[in-house]
Amino acid sequence: MHIETPPTDKPYDKPEGERRGLLIVNTGDGKGKSTAAFGLALRAHGRQHVHGKTVKIFQFMKVPSARFGEHRMFEQLGIPIEGLGDGFSWKSQDLEHSAQLARNGWEKAKAAILSGEHFMVVLDEITYPLIYGWMPLDDVLQTLQSRPKDVHVVITGRRCPPEIIELADTVTEMTKIKHAFNAGIPAQRGIED
Ligand code: ATP
Ligand code: MG
Repeated sequence: MHIETPPTDKPYDKPEGERRGLLIVNTGDGKGKSTAAFGLALRAHGRQHVHGKTVKIFQFMKVPSARFGEHRMFEQLGIPIEGLGDGFSWKSQDLEHSAQLARNGWEKAKAAILSGEHFMVVLDEITYPLIYGWMPLDDVLQTLQSRPKDVHVVITGRRCPPEIIELADTVTEMTKIKHAFNAGIPAQRGIED
């Protein structure tokens, strides 16, 4: 490894814009989209004494009864996390049912965003019902655009629609360099769920 001298120049000017709610997108094929969103939710919750509002997490592809590590911890911390889906996977049979759940779930998420009650609303894995055409992208865009000015929204999922990326303030693409799954290592408790 090459050894470098630490930088001494300030790499950017002092920002002069106004603070406001951000649209943050975590997309790409590598691991870490949802976990990074959960990290943001934790951080936001830790500043509740400053903003006085709650954080709300919606998961479009998880069942309401999901009890992964994050559900157990968020419950202890008092951060509501709500599964809106039927745990859809390649095994799913009833696509119309999945689509209906996604549309119902979107109405809940939309109401939460527009209520202005939350400091942050996380829409985990919302890209999948959008890609599958289960819910209208136009309504999602319209809701994001017209949301109260101070509401932060975090979107995760692979192949984020370009219209959302265009609208977003901060977009991160998780690039897969390696994933243990490709070496035949199965998903593990506490790492994947
Ligand atoms: P995580 O929830 O661990 O942050 P993620 O949200 O980035 O992952 P998803 O696309 O939601 O990833 O995938 C869900 C599951 O697939 C997770 O268990 C994750 O570890 C796994 N996964 C993520 N990226 C890959 C990959 N490149 N190859 C195989 N499995 C992956
Ligand atoms: Mg995910």
